[in-house]
Amino acid sequence: MTEFRNTEAYAHELDRQDVLSGFRERFFIPRDAEGNEQIYLCGNSLGLQPKTTKEYIDNELEDWKNLGVEGHVHARHPWMPYHEFLTEKMARIVGALPSEVVVMNSLTVNLHLMMVSFYRPTKERYKILIEYSPFPSDIYAVKSQLEYHGYDAESALIHLKPEEGTDIVSLESYRRILEEEGERIALVMIGGVNYYTGQLYPLAEMTRLAHATGAMIGFDLAHGAGNVRLSLHDVGCDFAVWCSYKYLNSGPGSLAGCFVHERHKDFDGPRLAGWWGHEKESRFRMGPDYIPIPGAEGWQLSNPPILSMAAIMASLDIFDEAGMDRLVEKSRNLTAYTEYLIKAIDSDAIELITPTEPGQRGCQLSIRVKGADKTLFGKISEAGVIADWREPDVVRIAPVPLYNSYLDVFRFVQILRASL
Ligand SMILES: *Cc1c(COP(=O)(O)O)cnc(C)c1O
Repeated sequence: MTEFRNTEAYAHELDRQDVLSGFRERFFIPRDAEGNEQIYLCGNSLGLQPKTTKEYIDNELEDWKNLGVEGHVHARHPWMPYHEFLTEKMARIVGALPSEVVVMNSLTVNLHLMMVSFYRPTKERYKILIEYSPFPSDIYAVKSQLEYHGYDAESALIHLKPEEGTDIVSLESYRRILEEEGERIALVMIGGVNYYTGQLYPLAEMTRLAHATGAMIGFDLAHGAGNVRLSLHDVGCDFAVWCSYKYLNSGPGSLAGCFVHERHKDFDGPRLAGWWGHEKESRFRMGPDYIPIPGAEGWQLSNPPILSMAAIMASLDIFDEAGMDRLVEKSRNLTAYTEYLIKAIDSDAIELITPTEPGQRGCQLSIRVKGADKTLFGKISEAGVIADWREPDVVRIAPVPLYNSYLDVFRFVQILRASL
């Protein structure tokens, strides 16, 4: 791995060897006022637009124009079953059976729907265990669920804790919390890849341990889907949710994914229902009794926004072509190269808070710059880098294997060094 070289010529060489380099051409790379391509390292926040997205959306606008309501049945991709066209492709990305996956709503909405069904507190077992430093929306959602069920959100919520002096959570400390509190924990809800540190948790082990104590477990994979190799069916978690606008390049606020494990296929506990989750054969008989579709589709509420789904289709077709295996392989090398270059800056001010072990991260690297404030971020932005700043002192970058190059990260690190 440290056969890497710290020269621009070598970065070019890696790009020449990269079998996925052609995919960059499929995306619009943002440009500055002079028309120069920027160094876009923010795919963990909003993925770039595929050049094909417009055509996919235009097709639906065209069919709507020409067919009106008949498009539900006669559009080139009929709208009635449109979400089904996404299912297998999405299932491949997260490693699930098609019947375990549905694209619907947005992320936090899906998280709530899943907690309605899988957070089932009892007098003895009512607590929720959440990760260290969770994304704000997740913590708001979890606290509001606790309060909705009549619990005090402070005392009923347990946070994982990082190892002393780091931001990394070990499996050992997770195990300890389950040993101490397991009997009182109803649900474990973890961001599978932490949005702040980029740590990828050991999902299978965490699931096994949660189930062994009798708790349900779900993952928020907003930072995992399209970034790391997932195999949700084998992991065996009860549910998972993720958005499609980060690594999955489906446009701002686009629809989200939802996974419900096969073992809950014929779920008969509580759920919030809507007509789109109703058995397809009898949906249009418009009867008063809810008969859920078996599997994840049974949690759907509304007929979905087709224009947003068309954007997801455009993106998933590209993922299918590139394949998660090849993407993950490039991702590991590209991120390792980025890490190598950052370490070569050789400054005491710089600390990588993301785990260095490739199995414990995706492509994101979170760089703490000690003593820095937002002026540092201003400088790198000025120099053409689009990255992400988290107070008080962390720059998050995500070299995305679909459209980022080795040259991108080489240039970024040069700019970072010059801005220190
Ligand atoms: C991006 C992100 C969200 C955003 O939620 P929306 O409902 O899509 O606005 C929530 N949770 C996590 C962990 C995220 O990374």
